[in-house]
Amino acid sequence: MVVVLVAVVVVPAGVVVANADRRHGHFSDHATGANQHRFERTGMKLIELRDITKTYHLGEIDVPVLKGVSLDVNRGELVALMGASGSGKSTLMNILGGLDRPTSGAYRFEGEEVDEFGDNALGDFRRRRIGFVFQSFHLLPYLCVAENVALPLSLIGVAAAERQSRAALSLESVGLGALGARRPGSLSGGEMQRVAIARALVHRPRLLLADEPTGNLDEGNAGAVLRCLAGEARRTGSATLMVTHSRVAAGAADRVLRLERGRLRAEP
Ligand code: ADP
Ligand code: MG
Repeated sequence: MVVVLVAVVVVPAGVVVANADRRHGHFSDHATGANQHRFERTGMKLIELRDITKTYHLGEIDVPVLKGVSLDVNRGELVALMGASGSGKSTLMNILGGLDRPTSGAYRFEGEEVDEFGDNALGDFRRRRIGFVFQSFHLLPYLCVAENVALPLSLIGVAAAERQSRAALSLESVGLGALGARRPGSLSGGEMQRVAIARALVHRPRLLLADEPTGNLDEGNAGAVLRCLAGEARRTGSATLMVTHSRVAAGAADRVLRLERGRLRAEP
């Protein structure tokens, strides 16, 4: 995976915050203060994005992808992210997961300024607090299923015995407890993606990012994976952001957001 590092420019004061919360039936704009990004202090907030922009540079050409994205996500929320191909969904997910940095804007996670983290702190943030599920599974073919699931625990220094027991529990929770000794290559696409979900959650991340998790699956497998994802989101209490093109999948979410022309809006 290519990780692009771009210098962080902190956005100037006077940022407008668009906070859409469907469950509470309101859509409010607050202007933030002049001296700092004044984030609201509530215990429920996990993510606060303020006026995030991302511009890619291709030689002389600037490609603005995100043009001022603000977003709040509460702990345990399940949010669906929709938008046309090329609208910047993966770009936004990569910024949220610490795989990439915004061009400007503020990103706060559990009250910490992620946009001010150095590379080591950002790597640590990613390994400990984020779980990723990608369209193409990213399972290692030469490891068995249980070893694949245990991998994130190795990266944060969990001892071998505990890695094994936690990987087994995580596999059981996605209904694949019997497949631990198998190689990923011998599984169906839907099973592989459920293994990837077990791996993404094994270290109990605060935020699960699923970027088109059903993009490579047929309808039947896609349904099983989405039920699994929504079920695990509820069970573990991890906030979950799921990119999907499926209205049905989006229907399982607490709210649906759409990226369009570089901006994020709440779907009715
Ligand atoms: P989505 O996930 O919604 O399909 P992406 O976030 O992958 O969209 O891409 C948004 C836009 O940014 C596209 O036009 C894409 O070509 C461009 N883009 C993505 N990554 C890069 C990159 N590393 N360098 C240059 N352009 C990029
Ligand atoms: Mg994408």
